[in-house]
Amino acid sequence: MSSDAEAVGATGTTGETVLSVSDLDVSYGKVQALRGVDLEITQGEIVSVIGPNGAGKSTLANTVSGFKEFDGSVEFMGRSVADRMPEDLVEEGLIHCTESRDLFGFMNVDDNLELGAYRRGDVAERKAFVYDLFPRLEERKGQHANTMSGGEQQMLAIGRALMGDPDFLVLDEPTLGLAPVILEDISEGIDAIQESGVTIMLCEQNVTFALKHADHIHLLENGEFVREGPPEELRDDDYIRESYLGG
Ligand code: ATP
Repeated sequence: MSSDAEAVGATGTTGETVLSVSDLDVSYGKVQALRGVDLEITQGEIVSVIGPNGAGKSTLANTVSGFKEFDGSVEFMGRSVADRMPEDLVEEGLIHCTESRDLFGFMNVDDNLELGAYRRGDVAERKAFVYDLFPRLEERKGQHANTMSGGEQQMLAIGRALMGDPDFLVLDEPTLGLAPVILEDISEGIDAIQESGVTIMLCEQNVTFALKHADHIHLLENGEFVREGPPEELRDDDYIRESYLGG
């Protein structure tokens, strides 16, 4: 985190631009997955990209994290991600918690968490933060990841991302397939992560969840942003209400 960000304290915002995307095009061969996407995220914000299956949310998350070639401009902390490898971006504080979670199934919770901390020296301190955020993980710290419920695995995936001490966290579909009771835990976790000063890009199909958490929302359909605004505005948008909130 920059000295400016530290200067305003853990919960403050500096107005500093963390992510700047402009005129972004991404293709898989002849299939164009993103078209003319513009996006700006400032320090301390949660910005959510909502949209249905196949809209391009994961493609955007993967591109921002340095995993996908693109046309246009994608800058993290003022420099193009095209000039850096994904592991360099991790070093610089951009951590991506993928939709597929990518846990090590035959390793236990504790070991999965420690693997997320290779960037950090203060493993014990980070782990204490994660266990405080998700006490359910501490109760299961000796359990293999592949024996945990979907919700517990999601907590572990987010926890492992936090072990890398992100300044900017890319969360791809953290609520996918989760029961309401677990959603509440994830919800509280995301609030606490933002309060700790982390900037978040939240890719979500669950529009109700995104409206609750985001400071700003973009609706992605067929690779293009078709609506954007603060949640209080989009909540009352007729198209969003009819198409995504059941009328
Ligand atoms: P979901 O929520 O279902 O994951 P999404 O909004 O994240 O959807 P993407 O996974 O980014 O959407 O997919 C956007 C488009 O790109 C889709 O048409 C998809 O079929 C296509 N696509 C994604 N990955 C590939 C790939 N590896 N090869 C070819 N096409 C792909």
